[in-house]
Amino acid sequence: MKCENGCRFGIMGGSFNPIHYGHLVLAEQIRTQFHLDMVYFVPVGDHPHKKNTILADKLSRYEMVVMATMTNPHFQVSRMEIDNAGISYTVDTIKEFRKNIGDEDTLYFITGADAIIDIESWKSFRELLGLCHFIGATRPTVNDSYLKDKVNDIVTKYDANIHLTTVPALAISSTDIRNRVKNNMSIRYLLPESVESYIYKKGLYKDG
Ligand code: ATP
Ligand code: MG
Repeated sequence: MKCENGCRFGIMGGSFNPIHYGHLVLAEQIRTQFHLDMVYFVPVGDHPHKKNTILADKLSRYEMVVMATMTNPHFQVSRMEIDNAGISYTVDTIKEFRKNIGDEDTLYFITGADAIIDIESWKSFRELLGLCHFIGATRPTVNDSYLKDKVNDIVTKYDANIHLTTVPALAISSTDIRNRVKNNMSIRYLLPESVESYIYKKGLYKDG
C-alpha cells in the first residue's frame, strides 16, 4: 500500500477468543481518531500470558476475525502469529511488519491502556518502544490519573511514543462470551451474527 507522506498502519493484537464488538469498536474508533490507513488484526498463536484459558484452535479464531472484519475496507487480518509455531512476542511481530513496509510508514500498536503500564515486563521492550507508536485506550469512566502518571513516566524514561485516548466503553469480553456459551445463555448482539453462527456450528466453548 502506498500513501502520500507515508502510511499509518494500526496493529491490533489479541487472542480474539472470540472476537466481539468491543474489539471492533476499539479498532474503528482509533482508526478514525488517528487517521490510520489500515488496521491489521493479528490473532495470537499460542498466547504467552493465557496458558490457562480455553483457547479455541487458532484457525477458528482467525476465521472468526476474518468474518467479523470483512465489511470494513480499512480492516485486514494477518496470519503472521498463527502461522508461527510457538509463542509470538510483540517485538518479533512488529519487526516482521517493519520488514514489509516502507521507511516512511508508521506503525501504531493498539492496546488497552492497562497493558501499556506493564510494558517494562515485555520482551525487548526498549527495542520495541523504538519501533512503533503505542495507542492505549481507556474507558471514559475510568479514573485514569494513575495510568496517565505511569505512562508519562515511561514516555520520559524511554523517549517513547505513547498516546492515550478514550473510546466508548463496551462491557463485553471474550471471557464473558465463552461463559455464556457454556451456560447456554444468549450471546446475540455482543458479536457479529456470522461469528455467533460459526461458534454454534463448530461447537466452540461448549465445555471447559
Ligand atoms: P479475554 O476475556 O479472553 O481476556 P478480551 O475480550 O479481553 O478477552 P483480548 O483478545 O484479550 O479480548 O483483547 C485484545 C485487545 O482488545 C486488548 O488490547 C484489549 O484491551 C482490547 N479489548 C478487549 N475487550 C474490549 C472492550 N470491550 N472494549 C475495548 N477494548 C477491548
Ligand atoms: Mg483480555
